[in-house]
Amino acid sequence: MSRAGDSGFPTVGEVRGFQEAIELLYGDRDRARGIDGTFVWFVEEVGELARALKGDDPGNLIEEFADVYAWLSTLASLAGVDMAEAVGKYARGCPRCHQAPCACPPKRSQRTPEQGLT
Ligand SMILES: [Zn+2]
Repeated sequence: MSRAGDSGFPTVGEVRGFQEAIELLYGDRDRARGIDGTFVWFVEEVGELARALKGDDPGNLIEEFADVYAWLSTLASLAGVDMAEAVGKYARGCPRCHQAPCACPPKRSQRTPEQGLT
């Protein structure tokens, strides 16, 4: 049985540092826009990521992942959520089975056709 730990999971400081950097860059604007307007931007960025995943421009794909992560961090800040605390949920492996990789049976929606639908 393997467990997460020294598995390269981002440190609390790294995750918090990113959130603080985004707050420093855009915090004033984000607070003025508010959480509802910011959520709309976030969803728009998710749509751009969806298009990038279907495209063939690796540089654009990286950019869209960065944008989604930045907008998610902004939303967390506006909602008073510490992303480092939030992602800590996964720091010690799967939150349900505590294994890394997860050893939980796949949910119906995650099963491949080969695994059947029952
Ligand atoms: Zn699991």
